[in-house]
Amino acid sequence: MTTNKMHMTFLTITNVSKAFDDVLVLRDVSLDVARGEVLCLLGPSGCGKTTLLRIIAGLEQPDQGQLFLEGKEITHIPSHRRDFGLMFQDYVLFPHMTVGENIAFGLKMRGWSQADARARVQELLTLVEMEGYEDRQVFELSGGQQQRVALARSLAPEPRLLMLDEPLGALDRTLRDQLLIELRDILTQLGQTAIYVTHDQLEAFAVADRVVLMREGRIEQQGTPEAIYLHPATPFAARFLGMTNILTGRLIFLTPPIVATSFGELHVAELPQGLHVGDRLTMVIRPEAAQRAHPSHAEINVLTFTLIHRSFRGAHTHVQLLAPDGKTLLSFELAGMSCRARPGEKVALAIDPAAIVVFEATTKSP
Ligand code: ATP
Repeated sequence: MTTNKMHMTFLTITNVSKAFDDVLVLRDVSLDVARGEVLCLLGPSGCGKTTLLRIIAGLEQPDQGQLFLEGKEITHIPSHRRDFGLMFQDYVLFPHMTVGENIAFGLKMRGWSQADARARVQELLTLVEMEGYEDRQVFELSGGQQQRVALARSLAPEPRLLMLDEPLGALDRTLRDQLLIELRDILTQLGQTAIYVTHDQLEAFAVADRVVLMREGRIEQQGTPEAIYLHPATPFAARFLGMTNILTGRLIFLTPPIVATSFGELHVAELPQGLHVGDRLTMVIRPEAAQRAHPSHAEINVLTFTLIHRSFRGAHTHVQLLAPDGKTLLSFELAGMSCRARPGEKVALAIDPAAIVVFEATTKSP
């Protein structure tokens, strides 16, 4: 995305709260979406992603807060007058219509002429690489093709904002990965502003310019996929991104930073501001942080673990290890086939100081 786009706020959400049956589902959520941006709402089931999306779509009213589109308030504008497109997992195609009729459906409702609608359907079929499928019946299509048609249908009326709620949730992983790449290309090619809801961090990383991680109705952290992955702000964020090596320690040296843990001292590359020697802290060691230690190299952070479990995953080997304190379990992804040890054997690993993230001292409980 160009920087230019980033500066043009398109949708602004301010202080939105929503309760169902006196249970707060969204708590004072404020968020900006830039024009042309693909924003992903990510979070565990029940954190309020869909409710926020439905409020943006106008399908649900907030109890408090406002929504602005290009500076104009839309909080109380009904859904059908917002010109937003929806692609929901359960927003299925009309089974009794052909592919072409499905794609043209929203166009007819908006008063497009038949000729314009026909031309637009062709454009969309080309975009989703389904030329020639216009007269096919929906039931003749594979799951992936149906999702392409659903995307074409939601894009056809040129929505100002496209909203996708777990659109690929029903598909298997391989097909989902393939369609994610295509979807991302299509949205970028069109410069389409989009909000994508998912609970799957890999999906979020693959599709989003910016990820908004939600927790219990609040925004926990937001940033580019790379920034969130490299700097998870809280233990919750780290855990949600699949990082399980979350430990506590005590800062024993500031320059260079060294943390004492229950199983030894660890050099870390960076510390957040404001920590003092003696402070207790929480940190995460990323799964790709470790590699086999070479006896001939003078490496730091070399620890000898006991292998508990090893599982070959192709590009990497997943290992679960017991730390030298005999109680801390850590998991790493070691490159390729670099570990062939058996359970019970000792494995010396060097942990990259740059792959240890220390959280702010004020961080919330994990
Ligand atoms: P999921 O991924 O499971 O859809 P989510 O993050 O999208 O989760 P929401 O669907 O927004 O979460 O739901 C948040 C909470 O609000 C849940 O506890 C849900 O049960 C509740 N909720 C959502 N819609 C309603 C409703 N119409 N009436 C009552 N409770 C609701």
